[in-house]
Amino acid sequence: MNLADALIARIEATGPMTVADYMTEALLHPTLGYYTTRDPFGAAGDFTTAPEISQTFGEMLGLCLALAWLGQGGGPVALAELGPGRGTLMADILRATRSVPGFATAVSIHLVEASPTLRAVQADTLNAYDPTWHDSVDDLPEGPILLVANEFLDALPIRQFVRAAAGWRERLVTVRDNALAFALGPVVPVPELDHHDVPEGTLVERCPALPHVASAVAERVARGGAAIFVDYGHWRSRGDTLQALRDHAPVPPLDAPGTADLTAHVDFEAVARAAPPARASAVTPQGVLLERLGITARAQALARKLEGAALDAHVAAHRRLTHPAEMGDLFKAIALVPTGAALPPGFDE
Ligand code: SAH
Repeated sequence: MNLADALIARIEATGPMTVADYMTEALLHPTLGYYTTRDPFGAAGDFTTAPEISQTFGEMLGLCLALAWLGQGGGPVALAELGPGRGTLMADILRATRSVPGFATAVSIHLVEASPTLRAVQADTLNAYDPTWHDSVDDLPEGPILLVANEFLDALPIRQFVRAAAGWRERLVTVRDNALAFALGPVVPVPELDHHDVPEGTLVERCPALPHVASAVAERVARGGAAIFVDYGHWRSRGDTLQALRDHAPVPPLDAPGTADLTAHVDFEAVARAAPPARASAVTPQGVLLERLGITARAQALARKLEGAALDAHVAAHRRLTHPAEMGDLFKAIALVPTGAALPPGFDE
């Protein structure tokens, strides 16, 4: 059975489902989900992420975390990643920080990953570092932590609501003409959206899992360390940002679930709101952050060893990560640190 047929049967039996339930099934269904069944990254896959574009991304984030660690006096710390994909970012972080005295022996590696297929890929990449895998952020060690999450929050399921005169109507996934289709539910109160004063007809998204993920990370960071979340989105996203990508091209989100990546823009305000007892930085565009961390000098040093097509690809990758017309502006970063600690380099208040 394919996942579309399984979801149609479920909706016919129990009624329409929320967009969040649909996303959960499409991405993480135990046998038919997108992440559960494949390694989706790179040219042969469906999409490419910053660490897969250039090693310099992970090098900059690694040195940024190591400097935050040194600034707080060092000491044993969990080095953790949420949704590590192929393990490339963590491998780049560990390679770049080898020259930081004491860092390699101070850290223990912790990976939060839901997909068995991707855990196997991560094991191949990172086995030398003896990582521990966890199902959830709640299982991470409770002491000081250095944490990174790139394009993890955008995979967390969102609910969508449309403003009506009397309240909000939830966008649901139903069955029409034997195919999955969107519909609107009845008017319901949604107190969590009361701070959104928007005109009738406006669609607003809410990620129910995000506040919990951000708080669980913040509670650990409050005991020492730092966390960096990088993702695409805005301080407060508005409108329908549910997006499906297959073979590097957008496809309708209800088309053949389980065979395309599904994401939504991240609401960075929701991360900042969940930060206490830790402290959140301002939201910084990815291009600005990487420039401040010295990515151009690093890219130039690497360029000296390259020529021809390899040099062209390297220059294009650098531009892709940093240029405002590419990933530089749409992708943003936010850091969490203990109250009273300095923000990691590259971030400001
Ligand atoms: N950070 C990587 C991969 C991003 S894709 C990179 O930048 O290349 C999203 C990752 O999060 C995948 O590894 C996916 O399997 C994982 N993931 C998605 N939802 C998850 C969840 N609820 N719990 C744990 N891991 C999840």
